Amino acid sequence: MSFSGSVYKTLQKISGKSNVTRKKEELLCYSYDATGNSFLPEVIIFPGSENEVSQILNLASKQNFIVVPRGAGSGMTGGAVPVNGGLVMVTSRMNKILEINENNFIAKVQPGVIVADLHKKVEEKNLFYPPDPASSSICTIGGNIAECAGGPRAVKYGVTRDYVLGLKAVLPSGKIIQTGVKTAKGVAGYDLTRLIVGSEGTLAIVTEITLKLLAKPAAIKTLAVFFDSMQKAARTVSGIMRETVIPRCVEYLDKASIDLVKDYISFDLPDNIKALLIIELDGYKTQVEKDALDIQKLCFSYNALEVLIAEDKTQSQELWNARKALSPALYKIANNKINEDIVVPVDKIPDMVQITKEIQKTYGLKVVSFGHAGDGNIHCNIMYNKADESEVKKANKAVDKLFQATLDLGGTITGEHGVGITKMKYLPKEIGATQIELMRGIKKVFDPLNILNPGKIFIS
Ligand SMILES: Cc1cc2nc3c(=O)[nH]c(=O)nc-3n(C[C@H](O)[C@H](O)[C@H](O)COP(=O)(O)OP(=O)(O)OC[C@H]3O[C@@H](n4cnc5c(N)ncnc54)[C@H](O)[C@@H]3O)c2cc1C
Repeated sequence: MSFSGSVYKTLQKISGKSNVTRKKEELLCYSYDATGNSFLPEVIIFPGSENEVSQILNLASKQNFIVVPRGAGSGMTGGAVPVNGGLVMVTSRMNKILEINENNFIAKVQPGVIVADLHKKVEEKNLFYPPDPASSSICTIGGNIAECAGGPRAVKYGVTRDYVLGLKAVLPSGKIIQTGVKTAKGVAGYDLTRLIVGSEGTLAIVTEITLKLLAKPAAIKTLAVFFDSMQKAARTVSGIMRETVIPRCVEYLDKASIDLVKDYISFDLPDNIKALLIIELDGYKTQVEKDALDIQKLCFSYNALEVLIAEDKTQSQELWNARKALSPALYKIANNKINEDIVVPVDKIPDMVQITKEIQKTYGLKVVSFGHAGDGNIHCNIMYNKADESEVKKANKAVDKLFQATLDLGGTITGEHGVGITKMKYLPKEIGATQIELMRGIKKVFDPLNILNPGKIFIS
């Protein structure tokens, strides 16, 4: 459907003239996400309230136009890309932290809140919101809900879904629902909160989120552990996870990753490094200090070259800055990447390390691996030149091989980035036809006209 004069005027009436646009340069800005896939929308709207979101969706269902919700566009699977055109609804104006309740350990937020801003505000009150995707300084909490974002701290604290107590959301019809309970327990009916979390903006547009908070840990210790082989690092990760001390982060960087970001680190690196683990512990000060020494000992027993315990916040921040700079730094290697966020059982990480080596050799493409090793979530980046057809073909074959090996090891094709458009063709391999049919049925109940973010998750 094209946005006729009267539909466009109604949109302007709903959100205000300055918050609706169809200027070509603006359409371009909202045509892509972190995948680089790009499709032009027809209109962009920036609603300021839940009521406006409801009116827009009500209009969309009557006029039969497509609506694609969008946070910051940092998604890694094309979820916010308008593959079938239509209207892109950006949540950047709905960016208020509505409440931080220190007595009940709860925060109420609008979807456009930037995750790092939420971290800062709750930490000022000595509270803690654990999910921390590496993109936290840019991504929105609405996007995190839609993708069920994870991040380094998931190894101890779980992922976004573990912190969502309830949601307000607008259905494609424009109807507003409130899910969840305000109590510690509640089993009244199906769990729609959990269904919407991770639904990639295909079932409803989330307009308000009630989050569970924790008390801020009193102390944090960060360790950098260096190895002369990836296998040794991988074996250490499974060794650590068998211990009673659960670190809040166990991040893994292979040799290629270290080379990309070593300039961020001011301390001397040992020679012959092939892998780095960044391990972080939190809790009471004396306990954390003892745990750090225990982990140091354990790493040496797995033949670590060196274990450095960060002396202060600055040293620890250096390590995290290096880790967080990795994703964009990859473009120093090649002009394109396929970034996969596979997860394997932790004791299968050494097998996966071997498999990525073989993939690299078979296809002659650089594969850079890093990620949240503590929970088996490895970001494998297959680097290639997008102008070279034969490299594009090889990269796609490498992905086929990577996913098949992941499934064979009992893993999943996506731990935190979602399916979006980039993994649609692989989804049936993991969950099979019966579950796909069930999921399509759920989509139909929420969105009978297929106007909300169509062309995602399932091959049409
Ligand atoms: C450098 C970098 C590092 C990253 N690191 C991590 C990481 O460690 N862990 C991790 O999990 N992810 C990571 N990501 C991926 C990405 O940041 C997350 O998926 C994030 O949740 C996306 O948020 P966003 O606001 O950018 O959403 P967008 O990209 O704008 O949208 C993502 C999806 O959410 C939907 N959506 C957005 N807002 C709403 C809403 N209000 N209601 C319903 N649906 C909505 C969109 O339609 C789309 O399907 C990283 C990305 C980058 C670029």
